[in-house]
Amino acid sequence: MATTTSLNPYTGTALNSYKNHTIKEVSKIIDKADKRFYSWRETTFSERKKLMLAAASELKKNKKEYAEIITLEMGKPISQAIAEVEKCAWVCEYYAENAAQQLENEVIKTDAHKSYVSYEPLGVVLAIMPWNYPFWQVFRFAAPALMAGNIGVLKHASNVFGSALNIEKVFKRAGFPENCFTTLLIGSDAVEAIIENEKVKAVTLTGSGPAGSSVASIAGKNIKKTVLELGGSNALVVLKDCDIDKTIEICVQARFQNTGQSCIAGKRLIIDESISEEFIEKMLVNVLELKSGDPMDKDTFIGTLAREDLAKDIENQVNDSIKAGAKLEIGGKRQGAYFEPTILTNVTKNMPVFNEETFGPALSVTTFKNVEEAIELSNFSKFGLGVSLFTKDTEAAEKLALQFNEGAVFINELVKSDPRLPFGGIKNSGYGRELSEHGIREFVNRKTVFIN
Ligand code: NDP
Repeated sequence: MATTTSLNPYTGTALNSYKNHTIKEVSKIIDKADKRFYSWRETTFSERKKLMLAAASELKKNKKEYAEIITLEMGKPISQAIAEVEKCAWVCEYYAENAAQQLENEVIKTDAHKSYVSYEPLGVVLAIMPWNYPFWQVFRFAAPALMAGNIGVLKHASNVFGSALNIEKVFKRAGFPENCFTTLLIGSDAVEAIIENEKVKAVTLTGSGPAGSSVASIAGKNIKKTVLELGGSNALVVLKDCDIDKTIEICVQARFQNTGQSCIAGKRLIIDESISEEFIEKMLVNVLELKSGDPMDKDTFIGTLAREDLAKDIENQVNDSIKAGAKLEIGGKRQGAYFEPTILTNVTKNMPVFNEETFGPALSVTTFKNVEEAIELSNFSKFGLGVSLFTKDTEAAEKLALQFNEGAVFINELVKSDPRLPFGGIKNSGYGRELSEHGIREFVNRKTVFIN
C-alpha cells in the first residue's frame, strides 16, 4: 500500500507517514460526498451560516495547534502561520455573513411576467491545492463552496497531509454534517480518475502551470468547469516620485513574506534609474535585518523553503542569472532547504529571475528610463496575476492601471488577497476568480427562470 511521508524542511527529519487512500476508498468517499450533497443543498443559508461561524471560532480557538503543523510541514515562520489561520477565520466569517445576499435570485426585467437568475450549487467540487498557504488556499475555496451548497473534496499537496487532515477536522469540530468536506490522501497520479468520476462536477486548482494545464485538459475532455490559480511574477513598479522609505517597506514585505513563496509576491522590482541607487542602498539594509532562523521561533521572519528541491530550483535560477550578467548584491547561498534573502541588480529580460517565476526569497532589480518602458517591462511576463505601482500621483497611476495586463493593480500597496475583493489572473496565471461575490459564483449553476 502506498504511503506518503512528510518531512520537516528545517530539520530534514521525517514528521509523519500517511497511508494513501486506495482507488476503492476514494470512490467510496466520493459516493458519500455526492450523497451528502442532496441533503446539504436543502439547508438554509442561516443554517450554513451558523456552521461557518462555528468553523471561524474553531480556527481562532485552536490557531496555535493548526499553525504548528503548518510550520513543521513547510517551514513557514510560526507568527506567519498563526496569521494565516486567523485569515481563514476571516474568510469563513465573510462568507457566513454575505453568501445569502450574493446568491439571492437576480430579477431581470424582460417581456416575461417574471424572469430571474437563481444561483444553485453544482455538487461535489474537487480542490487541488498547494503547500505554500496550506490553510488559506483551501479555506478561500471551501468557505464560499460550502456556503453555496456545494461539497468539497480536497487533494492537498503531498508534503502537507497533516494540515489537510486538520482542515477536515475544523469542519468536523464546527459541526458540519459528515462528508461535507473530505480530505483525500492521494498523489497527483490519482487525480485523473477523480475528475472523470461523474459525481465530481467541477475542479479548482492552485499550483504550477504544468499541474494546471494537465488538470484543465482532463476536465475539458470531461466537460467540467475549472478555476485555475497558477503562478505569477508580479512587478513592483517604482516611479521616481514615490515615498522611498514607505515603498521600500512595502516591497520588502511583498517579496520576502512567506519566505518568498507566494504567487502574488512582488518578484521583479522595476525602478526609475534616477532613484535606483539610493533605493537599493536603503533596501539592502532592510533586507539584511530580516531574521532568518528556526521557523518555530516567533521572531523568525525567513524560514526554510517548503522542500529542498524548491530551494535548489531558486538557487539555479539565481546562479543562471548571475552567469547571464546579473549582479549579486546580497544572499545567493543555500543550505539544505534554506535559501538566503537575495537581491540581484542589473537584471534583464533574458534572465530566469525575470522571465520565470521565482518561488523563494530572491528579488530581481531592473531599471527603466521612462514610464512607457516600465509598463513594457512589467507586461513582458508570461504571467498576469498582479502588479504594484508606487507613486505619489495616484490620479496619474489610476490612468496607468489600464495599461497593465494583470488580474489586479495595487497602487502604493502590495498585491494581497482580501475576502471582499476578487482574486485571480490572466495569461499563464490562470482564469476564473476566487473570493468576493465573483468567487462564490464560480461553482454555481446560473439558472434562468422565465415565467409567463
Ligand atoms: P505543483 O503545482 O506541482 O503542486 C500543486 C498541487 O497540484 C499539489 O497538490 C500537487 O500534488 C498537485 N499536482 C501536481 N501535478 C499535478 C497533476 N499533473 N495533476 C493533478 N494534480 C497535480 O507545485 P510544486 O509543489 O511542484 O511547486 C512547483 C512550482 O509551482 C513552484 O515553484 C511555484 O512556481 C508553483 N506554485 C505556485 C503556487 C501558487 O500559489 N500559484 C503554489 C505552489 C506552487 P502533489 O503534491 O501530490 O504533487
